Amino acid sequence: MTENKYIKVVDDNTVTRKMKSCPECGPGYFMGEHKDRFTCGHCGHTEFKK
Ligand SMILES: [Zn+2]
Repeated sequence: MTENKYIKVVDDNTVTRKMKSCPECGPGYFMGEHKDRFTCGHCGHTEFKK
């Protein structure tokens, strides 16, 4: 895994400073943050906040 496109998806509610990487795509694929969840723009994997 050599890709590091860490700014791949930026939408209206994304907080870029707190991005977490996608467990499906691996490091280098960061998940966009929404008010109640994180979503990977690459594979669509979603993790809900607690
Ligand atoms: Zn992903």
